[in-house]
Amino acid sequence: MSATIIDGKEVAARVRADVAHAVAAFRERTGKAPGLATILVGEDPASAVYVANKRKACAEVGIIDFHQHLPGDSSQDDVAAVIEDANGNPEVSGILLQLPVPKGLNGKELTALIEADKDVDGLTHVSAGRLMQGAPGLRPCTPLGVIELLDAYSVPLEGAEAVVVGRSDLVGKPVSFLLLERNATVTVCHSRTRDLAGVCSRADVLVAAIGRAEMIGAEFVKPGAAVIDVGINRTDDGLKGDVQFDAVAAKAGWITPVPGGVGPMTIAMLLRNTVTAAALQLGSR
Ligand code: NAP
Repeated sequence: MSATIIDGKEVAARVRADVAHAVAAFRERTGKAPGLATILVGEDPASAVYVANKRKACAEVGIIDFHQHLPGDSSQDDVAAVIEDANGNPEVSGILLQLPVPKGLNGKELTALIEADKDVDGLTHVSAGRLMQGAPGLRPCTPLGVIELLDAYSVPLEGAEAVVVGRSDLVGKPVSFLLLERNATVTVCHSRTRDLAGVCSRADVLVAAIGRAEMIGAEFVKPGAAVIDVGINRTDDGLKGDVQFDAVAAKAGWITPVPGGVGPMTIAMLLRNTVTAAALQLGSR
């Protein structure tokens, strides 16, 4: 195996420690800690676990918890009212509506109600527009985590050929804009891309955000490339990424494992975004 393994657990731990210091400094300066309102609607067990993990991570760095759990039969107006309440609450720095919301509710419309300076998931139209135009604002957590990992291992981005497989609003598109912001030459691939292996094998930096277990084999990878595997796929053989780890690690320069690569970064970047949000709101008063 030749690739350097990018250790997401270690980088995430460092980010969390930095956030804990930033929270303490913020409290020193303003007399109060940043606060995060997580909003969970219904009883979906996976969503409940995700929200519990986020709340625990917040508590560990000193972010104040403003959690709201609404019943699964809540109406669109009920959830909207909770979001509006959090928008207007000066103690709440960041708001996170856990997706997916139960059937019958429109998660996209609800997300759009979140005040942009509190949008710690970076998923509102305003946040997406700010990202596209390079304006200050909150960026989606997983894409931020991808860039943080590349930076932690000093992977050169300026002028690099970057290929992103996947064009979702959550991962593929925002990570493409973040790479562009860093002066990479970015190609975005999707299910209709012709000769995917040919396009990917040009990449100095290859980001796989597809959701298909082990789809990316060694033939997709340029020798020495940095390969970031965002995929999380539950298979009969356990959790798998989108990349064939062993085969690609023999050819790449850097590679993220699954689990233990991008996964741990998402919550770490949510914590950082909550502190960024608190600072943004101070600036806008
Ligand atoms: P998504 O919304 O389903 O998007 C998947 C993208 O992959 C789409 O753009 C799709 O193209 C493309 N695609 C699908 N099959 C393809 C193929 N055969 N060839 C080329 N492109 C193909 O998924 P997502 O939300 O972006 O998530 C992607 C993966 O990342 C999932 O495994 C998810 O679980 C994981 N994820 C991980 C984290 C984390 O914290 N590590 C966070 C978020 C997501 P079209 O647009 O043409 O359909």
